[in-house]
This record gives sequence, C-alpha cells and structure tokens, in this order.
Amino acid sequence: MVKLNPNFAKLQANYLFSTVRERTNAYAAAHPDAKIIRLGIGDVTKPLAPAVIEAMHAAVEEMGHAETFKGYGEDFGYSFLRSAIADNDYAPLGIKLDIGEIFISDGAKSDTGNIGELFSEDCTVAVCDPVYPVYVDSNVMAGRAGDYDGERWSRLVYMPCVESNGFVPDLPEKPVDMIYLCFPNNPTGAHATYDDLKRWVDYALKTGAVILYDAAYSCFISEGLPRSIYEIEGARGCAIEFKSFSKTAGFTGVRCAYTVIPQELKVGGVSVNAMWRRRQNTKFNEASYISQRGAAAIYTEAGAAQVAEVIGYYKRNALMLRDGLRSAGFTVYGGENSPYIWMRTPDGMSSWDFFDTLLDRVQVVGTPGSGFGPSGEGFFRLTAFGTLEMSEQALERIRSAF
Ligand SMILES: *Cc1c(COP(=O)(O)O)cnc(C)c1O
Repeated sequence: MVKLNPNFAKLQANYLFSTVRERTNAYAAAHPDAKIIRLGIGDVTKPLAPAVIEAMHAAVEEMGHAETFKGYGEDFGYSFLRSAIADNDYAPLGIKLDIGEIFISDGAKSDTGNIGELFSEDCTVAVCDPVYPVYVDSNVMAGRAGDYDGERWSRLVYMPCVESNGFVPDLPEKPVDMIYLCFPNNPTGAHATYDDLKRWVDYALKTGAVILYDAAYSCFISEGLPRSIYEIEGARGCAIEFKSFSKTAGFTGVRCAYTVIPQELKVGGVSVNAMWRRRQNTKFNEASYISQRGAAAIYTEAGAAQVAEVIGYYKRNALMLRDGLRSAGFTVYGGENSPYIWMRTPDGMSSWDFFDTLLDRVQVVGTPGSGFGPSGEGFFRLTAFGTLEMSEQALERIRSAF
C-alpha cells in the first residue's frame, strides 16, 4: 500500500497567512460595514509599468502568428532576459556573470523552496529567527527539520534577529551546512552591511557551508549597502542568490524570477550549477515567454524609470509609516531600504493580542511577528505595499487606538 511522506504530517496545520486571512474574514463577516485596511500579506498594489504591459502585449501578438509563435523556451530562460540581468543587475555592481550562471524561474518562492533538493538530508540548516516561512517548511518536508515542540524544530539552528544585534544574526555556535539569509529582510525590514555579509561569506568559506541568499527586496536599497551577495569577495565560491521581479516590478501575479549559481560553487568537486541544470531540466519548463518579455522590459530606459517610480512610492509609504508610528511613541524598526515596518507591540502585548486589538478597535490588519518564529514574539509587521491613502489611514487609526 502506498505510504505518505511522513514529513508532511509534521507541518503545522495553519500557515501564518491563512490564519491572518481567516481571522480577518471572520471579523468582516461579523461586521459587514467595517472598512478594514489590510497591511498584512506582502502583496503589491500598484499595476504593472506601461513598458511591461507594452512588451507583454507584443509578446502575446507574436504568439498568435505561425512565424513568431514560441513553444517551449530556451533552457533555463531566454538569453535576452538572462543577458539583460547580467548587464543591468550585476555589471554595474562590478559583478561579471556568465548567462549560464543565471536560471530564470517562475518565482523565488519555488526556487528557495526547491533548492534544498540539491543537498543531503543530513545537512544542518540555519535560519534567521524570525524568518520567511518557506525556508523552514520546505526543510520540514525534506526531513531536515526534526520535530516541532510547539515553538521550534529540533534540528534547525535558529539565529535570533533581535534588537540587540540590529536584527542581523550572529554567527551560529554549532556547525551548520545550509544558511538561509534574506536582506533587506522579510519580516524585520533590516538590511545587512558589507561587513555583515563578509562575516558570513568568510564563515561559509572556512566551514564549507553554503549560503542561500534571498535578495528579493534588493531593489529597495539606496546607496551604500550591498545589493548582491556577490559584491563580497569569495561569495562566488559559497553562495546561491535568489531574486524576483515580484517586489521589484509588481510581478506577483505574472510570475518571473531568477536564481544565480556561480560556476565556482562546488561541493566535493561537484558543480552545484550542473546539478541545478539537471534538476531544472527534469522538473521545470521555464516561465512563460510573455512573462520573460515583460521582465526584460524593466531594463529598458522607460521601463526602468517607471519601475523606479513605483518603488519610490512604496519607499515613501514605508518612511511615512515608520516616522508616524515613532512620533506616536511606538518603537519601530525597518522601513528604510525596505517595504516592511517591524514594530514592537505596545505594553508588552503578545503579537496575536495586538493583531486582535488592532482589528477590533480600528480595523487595521498586520502580521503577528510570532508567526515568523519565536524571536518575533512581541513584534508586528506592517507592509508599505498598500496605497498612500491606505497607509496614511492605517497610521491615523493606529495612533488613535493607543
Ligand atoms: C515575496 C518574497 C519572495 C518572492 O517570491 P516570488 O515567488 O518570486 O513571488 C521571495 N522571498 C521573500 C523573502 C519574499 O518575501
């Protein structure tokens, strides 16, 4: 008889965002006139840039004619997009990538969730705490997390990201093999400096660990901070980088992202790049031509300007929320070089109590920090991905509630 993968039974029944959605919907059903402001789930609200729409329209048109129709794409993504990425996202940072090191995909969630397939089940995994849940749950499914005690997984190494370390983790005390890092960070909004990343790269090179670097929010970085782990010397030998057009250009519904695996990254002499090629060849058939044409359009002059304007809009929301909450007396982190606001709950309230109180008193929805890991308890995440009006109203309401 068939047996199920027992690791799935270990997963917590409720995914954080489903719980947030359920509680919000229950409140809305009981209070049909309430005007709820949702700043909980990290989805964008601005439409796609005109240059992207134009490129996608043209791509759809090509699909309608035998001479220009596209079926299965080029392996690992169209070279027009991979070259544009190498030339625009990396060359200006002084990083030279071969397009064979860039893999186009349909999302950084799937790639960060799938990358673990390349590594042994015995590897010890280190995650930031609080953390983007995908890194944890995908390792639970893979049998690398051990057992859950209601707060922590027994085999995961948690790296607390707390006020005392500026939400940038310290090196782990126990040896670890796979290290997930994400900067600018979801959920804390913290960013890492060159020195912070150098400490991690040096550690990984010394111990033979691999860094899985999620740079989904790098477009929110202004001057003076690393936008790619490959800005650090030696990172090509120890790090994989994930990027996405979701937060950069509003592609959460279109789907297009990419992963960089340098040729130098070898484990026991085996090329990780070659393994991922083999894996993708077997299990993946590329993002659609239309999505890839849309993504390439953000590297045109017009597209780049339009996308920068939207990012600037979200960044202004973030600063406005951060400064407004601070001046109202809240302790607030993030919001700079990041679309996330990480606020301490007032009066020592738990994250979920604060969630319920805000929903009940002023109908503002955020995400309870404890849902991202034990060190998130007592914190609350708000996103700057709403409209300016939503963000201003949410700020006004939170101030009036406390
Ligand atoms: C939004 C987000 C992503 C992007 O996911 P996609 O699948 O590309 O939409 C990746 N990592 C983090 C931490 C995110 O918050």
